[in-house]
Amino acid sequence: MTSAEIHKRRVAAVARGVGSTISSYVDHASGGTLTDVDGREWIDFAAGIAVTSVGNSAPRVIEAVQRQVERFTHTCFMVAPYEAYVAVCEQLNELTPGAFEKRSALFNSGAEAVENAVKIARYHTKRPAIVVFDHGYHGRTNLTMALTAKNMPYKNGFGPFAPEIYRAPMSYPLRDGLDGPAAAARAIDVIEKQVGASNVAAVLIEPIQGEGGFVVPAPGFLPALAEWTREAGAVFIADEIQTGFCRTGSWFASSHEDVEPDLITTAKGIAGGLPLAAVTGRASIMDSVHAGGLGGTYGGNPIACAAALASIETMRELDLAGAARHIGGRITARLSELDHPAIAEVRGRGAMIAVELPDASATAAVAAECHANGLLVLTCGTYGNVLRFLPPLVMPDDVLDRGLDILTAALTSR
Ligand SMILES: *Cc1c(COP(=O)(O)O)cnc(C)c1O
Repeated sequence: MTSAEIHKRRVAAVARGVGSTISSYVDHASGGTLTDVDGREWIDFAAGIAVTSVGNSAPRVIEAVQRQVERFTHTCFMVAPYEAYVAVCEQLNELTPGAFEKRSALFNSGAEAVENAVKIARYHTKRPAIVVFDHGYHGRTNLTMALTAKNMPYKNGFGPFAPEIYRAPMSYPLRDGLDGPAAAARAIDVIEKQVGASNVAAVLIEPIQGEGGFVVPAPGFLPALAEWTREAGAVFIADEIQTGFCRTGSWFASSHEDVEPDLITTAKGIAGGLPLAAVTGRASIMDSVHAGGLGGTYGGNPIACAAALASIETMRELDLAGAARHIGGRITARLSELDHPAIAEVRGRGAMIAVELPDASATAAVAAECHANGLLVLTCGTYGNVLRFLPPLVMPDDVLDRGLDILTAALTSR
């Protein structure tokens, strides 16, 4: 069956609201390429949106999943618990920043983790307000739509949204020209004047924004915000769903500025492509919730947990944080060479790099040319004018370089 044939069936069977970047259908994938059903190879600069950091069908993940499927597929941790769930929580507590006692809880998706982090913060503080930021993205469920900044396509027509969500200005150095402390002072002023420090349950922020445009806040912004949050008696939540698990060149992006969030949400890169998410944080906050207050039928499914343990082992053994720094250095070096007037900025950390272009149509055109030449890239940003690169962290240099050849040719043809 060809992609065109499947696509015809898809249009008749799949809801139109579910989109796809490309219209080719995948047959199999590895640690850097996808092969579609038409036999065409794609260089993968998307990793399923920063998910397959250890590669697709990574050897340890295959083995762990197969072993687990044979033992049991599901008992529900809330009904009959199993060790793999506990082991994933132990790993999360150890790997996340913060030298304090921690607890974790597991869920299915990033949005579900964010929802639970908000539940926990509100329960712990007995306060209502959640502060989020311009360009922020936290998911597509009702609460997380309210937390997400961008209207189209995420929110338009899907309201009314959850109350007690307040948006503060983000540090966006290219656009606001402010240093970190000044940008933090601006955000804190909005919070104090428009929300009131004593009403704030949590400040929720991506240490590097994902869908919002790979916006890296100016140095000092995150630490100042975290400090204010602590002084206000609120919970500082880092949404590391896109930045976590080695993507930015360390286990978690908060570490680049020595920020120790009270709670961290994770998902995407955690389990080699299987659906798993988590909230990890200070034991005193996590354990404030009454027994039975957190959970879900599938949260911490044993197959997903086995995949997570195998992925984490792969990240340790192959030093994928180091690999992310290497990949980022290679991408940045090639893009910086270009010195093209259309490139407003090359930014990011580790293997989470983006170029900001003048507008959405130029960005869509470059992406389309990359796709025509077999390079899978994604766009992002509130203004749709950012091309983002999220290759699997196991991508070999020769594949990466071939991808960069296609990308730089597409950029310079503009
Ligand atoms: C993807 C993402 C989410 C939502 O995760 P889902 O698994 O799609 O629900 C939340 N926050 C950030 C920062 C993300 O990148």
